[in-house]
Amino acid sequence: MRTGYLYHEIFGWHDTGTFVGDMPSDPGAGLQPYMNYENPETKKRIHELIVVSGLIEDLIRIPVRAASETELATVHTKEHIARIKKESASRLGGDGGDLTTPFAKGGYEIAAMAAGGAIELFEAVLNGDVDNGYALIRPPGHHAVSETGMGYCIFSNLAVAIGVAKKTHKKDLRVAVVDWDVHHGNGTESIFLNDPNVLTISLHQDQLYPHDTGSVDVVGVGTNINIPLPPGTGHGGYYYAFDEVVIPAIKQFKPDIIAVASGFDSSVYDPLGRMLVTAEGYRVMTRKLMDVASQVCAGKLMMTHEGGYSASYAPFCGLFVLEELCGVKKLADPFAHGNNYPGHELKEHEKRIIDEAKKLVSNL
Ligand SMILES: [Zn+2]
Repeated sequence: MRTGYLYHEIFGWHDTGTFVGDMPSDPGAGLQPYMNYENPETKKRIHELIVVSGLIEDLIRIPVRAASETELATVHTKEHIARIKKESASRLGGDGGDLTTPFAKGGYEIAAMAAGGAIELFEAVLNGDVDNGYALIRPPGHHAVSETGMGYCIFSNLAVAIGVAKKTHKKDLRVAVVDWDVHHGNGTESIFLNDPNVLTISLHQDQLYPHDTGSVDVVGVGTNINIPLPPGTGHGGYYYAFDEVVIPAIKQFKPDIIAVASGFDSSVYDPLGRMLVTAEGYRVMTRKLMDVASQVCAGKLMMTHEGGYSASYAPFCGLFVLEELCGVKKLADPFAHGNNYPGHELKEHEKRIIDEAKKLVSNL
């Protein structure tokens, strides 16, 4: 496989400040300055493992560029873009829009690079320059809605890539988005909720973040599927959701390309999520998508990076996904005992909600 890979050191320079997890430090409340959950380490360490393992030799590096304002405006309001740009130029930087998405001076330029990275990889896969690929970009994007950023996301990177491709290729380009980040892909959902040519499927921990989106009954024009999984869902639940909902939906929809909003916070060791997916689980889900992509869209499959907050484990999730994409095996998972934790079997309360989402497939 010719697998594209995109990363730039500037993504590690996006400065989210000395938060305490997702809280600003506050001595009065006992919140000692520490580190934002969303910090450079996980992403830097995914990249460094890809280099140190030698996998980098099997990947085709794709250069990163900044998205233009016109490109960002395919899915974002001019006001949002202008506000981020203005705050980014000030000495202390600004915030994506919800006061928990801080960025330092220059944050606009880095966020535009993340969106531009998504555009470049999407183009490369769509054009057939590479067969598939992964854009390891930061800040993430899937929570950002048209008029504001939120949840660590400034611009909706993948949505921008789709918006641009619709302009440069064809307006009715059909895209299937699969979001396996543990949080609901509310931004991508809201941007394309009324677009019959973009299928958005989000598998997420029920009501984790945002607390009030992601329910199974939000369907828009019929091309949005939410699978709000209960906390504790393991491989049994995820594979059942893929086999019964995600794959049949993609087959029914017949996209020109499949795009994944890839978060590794559904992993068993993630500090924010309460799910059980391991590196092997991410590898299997990647394989399932590669198989359906080869059936419906000549294998065209691209992924953009979203969340994932275990600095020790996210690198192995990333490595396994990229190994599977390019068909090369480099390392075993040193944390593989997570595959044997109890709870991986499909449970009745997981099956119930997945079967509920399954009913939406026939409407496509
Ligand atoms: Zn997430």
